[in-house]
Amino acid sequence: EKTGTGWNMDNSYTRLPEKFFSNNSPNPVNSPKLVVLNEAVADLLGLDAKKLEDDDNVAVFGGNQIPEGSTPIAQAYAGHQFGHFNMLGDGRAVLLGEQITPEEERLDIQLKGSGRTAYSRGGDGRAALGPMLREYIISEAMHALKIPTTRSLAVVTTGESILRETELPGAILTRVAASHIRVGTFEYAAEFASVEELKGLADYTIKRHYPENESSENPYLSLLKEVIKRQADLIAKWQLVGFIHGVMNTDNMTISGETIDYGPCAFMNEYDPSTVFSSIDRQGRYAYGNQPYIGGWNLARLAEALLPLLHEDQEKALELAQDAVAEYSNLYKSRWFSGMRAKLGIINEEEEDETLIEDLLSIMQKHKADFTNTFRSLTYDATKITNLSGTPEFSPWLERWEKRIEGQKESRESSYELMRSSNPVVIPRNHKVEEALKAANEGDYSVMKSLLRVLSSPYDNSIENTDYCSPPASTDQPYQTFCGT
Ligand code: AMP
Ligand code: MG
Ligand code: MG
Repeated sequence: EKTGTGWNMDNSYTRLPEKFFSNNSPNPVNSPKLVVLNEAVADLLGLDAKKLEDDDNVAVFGGNQIPEGSTPIAQAYAGHQFGHFNMLGDGRAVLLGEQITPEEERLDIQLKGSGRTAYSRGGDGRAALGPMLREYIISEAMHALKIPTTRSLAVVTTGESILRETELPGAILTRVAASHIRVGTFEYAAEFASVEELKGLADYTIKRHYPENESSENPYLSLLKEVIKRQADLIAKWQLVGFIHGVMNTDNMTISGETIDYGPCAFMNEYDPSTVFSSIDRQGRYAYGNQPYIGGWNLARLAEALLPLLHEDQEKALELAQDAVAEYSNLYKSRWFSGMRAKLGIINEEEEDETLIEDLLSIMQKHKADFTNTFRSLTYDATKITNLSGTPEFSPWLERWEKRIEGQKESRESSYELMRSSNPVVIPRNHKVEEALKAANEGDYSVMKSLLRVLSSPYDNSIENTDYCSPPASTDQPYQTFCGT
């Protein structure tokens, strides 16, 4: 290995039964070239960012070399895609291993777009530059928005073109995650492995993500409950910034509670619960307003997979599972309401808050108000809210809200402080992301780099951010996203 880069890898996943993965080296590429490198993530990993730019390490990002201590594998998993169960697995990704960070954290290092694997089926195992940069940009934006997410360390072009509708430049993303264990990993174990092997996966997961539950009375029930909690929290956070994941299949839901798989995701502009951007989601299964419900649906699939471990008596197991899953919607609602209160600068809790919040949302929907900009304006200048100010519904609402804020014993300033840290000024607006990707496809990465800089401090209300805050021109709509490229 290239001396002193800082790679410090383990491969605990490969100590699980063979069924859970296949040994799989990344397939070499023509000429990997670095497009973007994330210094903050390099630091977090204990890697020397300067050295990562050397040819040897760019070769690692391209899959032409493997870092010392790596045992590359493709992970096996299954999942419900748009409601239908399928065998899946890493079809275009390999896990290089787990980097043990200076803080003693264990983080997966995965190459996405690294070629065919045992699970590729008809796919080419490759990825295009646009979608890999899209994942890089949006995952980093989510991190800055304080939303649990996989991170992006680097994107390289491969020097090869891949065939989609047209020829596109090939690329590989280096993804960093708490782990890549998914709801679909448990579904795979429940369907294709023995109960002993399922238990092995659950024990591994508990040890890795929920070690405090190892000694609990029923560790598997605790695991289920913890995942439910983290997903309720995560999906509430998505809703609070208008993030639409776009493909909430069970294989795209992590056990760690991190957002994963930035395929057809996009941020909502005008507030409307039925908003869908993904071209393949024709029924609106994964529409903005449906995400909390789908979260519960997916967690029910996890609970089913865990049934054999929850209790010897399967009837009792079912009861425990149902009670745990039923708790999800309460947890979700309480997290969503507390997040909405924060967005409105409401510090303590009163019963009428729920109608105050719901009334605002229905006024926003009626007048097609931009989600992000409405809360931004409420924070910085409530008298000028595009589409709302001056409407007969909004003025009385504003009065109610002001009265509610004035009535708090806390200072107005502490209310505004809460709002400033709860209402982002910039989100990765779809048209700004597209603009950056278009330039990148033409070899100009400067547009993307400026965008990344702005997105790294989304709560900063400085003048230079304003260009990034406008909703798209109405002629740009409807915006469509695609996955699998
Ligand atoms: P996704 O919709 O991104 O969650 O991917 C669903 C499944 O399709 C996963 O098993 C992926 O590994 C697989 N997949 C996506 N793109 C490709 C590709 N180009 N080649 C092979 N497998 C792919
Ligand atoms: Mg996926
Ligand atoms: Mg995907």
